[in-house]
Amino acid sequence: MSDINSLFDLAIIGAGINGAGIARDAAGRGLSVAIVDSGDVGGATSSASTKLIHGGLRYLEYYAFGLVRKALAEREVLLDIAPHITWPQPFVLPHAPGMRPEWLLRLGTFLYDNLARRQVVPGSARIDLRSERAGRALASDYRSAMRYWDGWVDDARLVVDNLKDARERGALVLPRTPVARAARVGDVWELALADGRTLRARRLINAAGPWAEDVARRVMGLNDAPPLRLVQGSHIVTRRVHLGRDAFMLQQPDGRIIFIIPYERDYSLIGTTEGDVQRPEDATVSDAEVSYLLAAANRYLARPLTPDDVVHRFVGVRPLILETGKADKETTRDYRLVEHAGQDAMTVVGGKITTYRVLAEDVMARIAPRCKGWTGSAPLPGGAIERRRGEHGQAAFKRWLEDLQRREADYDPKLIKRLAMTIGAPTQTLLAGGLGRNLGGVFEAELDYFRREEWAVSSADVLWRRTKLGLHLDAAAQGEVARWFGEEPAAAAEIPAGHRFARPGIA
Ligand SMILES: Cc1cc2nc3c(=O)[nH]c(=O)nc-3n(C[C@H](O)[C@H](O)[C@H](O)COP(=O)(O)OP(=O)(O)OC[C@H]3O[C@@H](n4cnc5c(N)ncnc54)[C@H](O)[C@@H]3O)c2cc1C
Repeated sequence: MSDINSLFDLAIIGAGINGAGIARDAAGRGLSVAIVDSGDVGGATSSASTKLIHGGLRYLEYYAFGLVRKALAEREVLLDIAPHITWPQPFVLPHAPGMRPEWLLRLGTFLYDNLARRQVVPGSARIDLRSERAGRALASDYRSAMRYWDGWVDDARLVVDNLKDARERGALVLPRTPVARAARVGDVWELALADGRTLRARRLINAAGPWAEDVARRVMGLNDAPPLRLVQGSHIVTRRVHLGRDAFMLQQPDGRIIFIIPYERDYSLIGTTEGDVQRPEDATVSDAEVSYLLAAANRYLARPLTPDDVVHRFVGVRPLILETGKADKETTRDYRLVEHAGQDAMTVVGGKITTYRVLAEDVMARIAPRCKGWTGSAPLPGGAIERRRGEHGQAAFKRWLEDLQRREADYDPKLIKRLAMTIGAPTQTLLAGGLGRNLGGVFEAELDYFRREEWAVSSADVLWRRTKLGLHLDAAAQGEVARWFGEEPAAAAEIPAGHRFARPGIA
């Protein structure tokens, strides 16, 4: 691995999913890479998304066929290379009187099925809600629906897994290290880090997500920065509204849609709202948004939710490409790569979790055109389990997990599953070494692993990003985790847990 005093081929500002994906791809093509983030890896937008690997059924209404096709094709790739943190996710889209007509829903889902090749993602079908389990969660006025499929991903873990692979391939990963200024000195970019160190690289990529415009202008001093439109989106986590596998896509009278998705076994994830913000730091989950989401869900649910059912909330900020005259929901979710002329620098704007890998390939096609792409068939570290010839990652993971549960019969199979669906392949080694003390639902060996291998330094890193145990552990256990990291036990309880969006480390 190169040390901080090396002259790197590539420096990346921002270790969200886009920066992490670029770092992995570039390191695998033999470039020396350093990636820097002001906060925890994946600590901003890339841990606050709806966590869908999706083409975006609703973007068909805006004729965004190119984006939808690209994203749909990518679903299959991500399900294959990261099978431990992804799965195909069914969605029920009820037909509601006065909303989009049933023929339009059928046409949309038909197009969605056929825009890209599918291997493990099933096709859509019309369902009768009076006889389907999903129908039991909904009020009796809803009788028919379309069931279509997308993918689910643990967004924060996807970032970590990309960075682990980048590090394995020689990249230097520096979390909690804000870049205060970047200046071009001769042919080299010099990055002044807030801790006083300097990082030098031949080329610079600004992947600062919602801060990309600000970083280009203020940190890099470039005036050709693309203008961004910042749109905040809030989610709430509630008691689980429906025991089946299905998620719901629910149309609203204002033309929006909201999702209710099974979340962390015991919960439902409901989102999102959309509203412009001036600065990312201004984004907070307001009580009005919580009320909007509850009302939107209750429009359909048989057993309405109350504010008391809300156990958690979080907000993220979409960095969208500014398209004057378009409403937020019409603004493209595609990305743009902006090359700063004559500077050996690029700013990444927009994008989705779903398209991070193709975005990274596009970046590499521009900066290292002679190297071939490789990430489409190379499993991430957690998904690097033995596969039979021609076997898809999803099938291989299922087989591997069952086998592990059989071999490690001394451990509770549910615990093995939880670990496997978090860190994936390294679970085997973790179990073999023993898990140590149980701190009330989390083991010392896990915390040690997150600290040693995954850049975790605080209880918040572990409880809300490396895992979502913050939803499951009681206050005493969260206090134990805090103590393990040398924090006051109260620290775990005080975690804002995403209520406010922030870029840690930058005033
Ligand atoms: C509410 C919501 C729901 C979404 N749902 C989905 C979905 O279901 N599926 C999907 O595919 N996409 C979804 N998205 C989009 C997706 O989350 C984003 O496109 C993606 O996470 C952006 O990643 P990024 O790496 O560009 O930005 P980020 O994850 O925000 O990373 C940028 C990083 O740059 C760092 N940084 C900033 N300034 C500096 C500096 N000066 N020095 C060092 N580091 C710095 C920040 O700390 C941050 O970690 C959603 C987005 C939102 C907001």
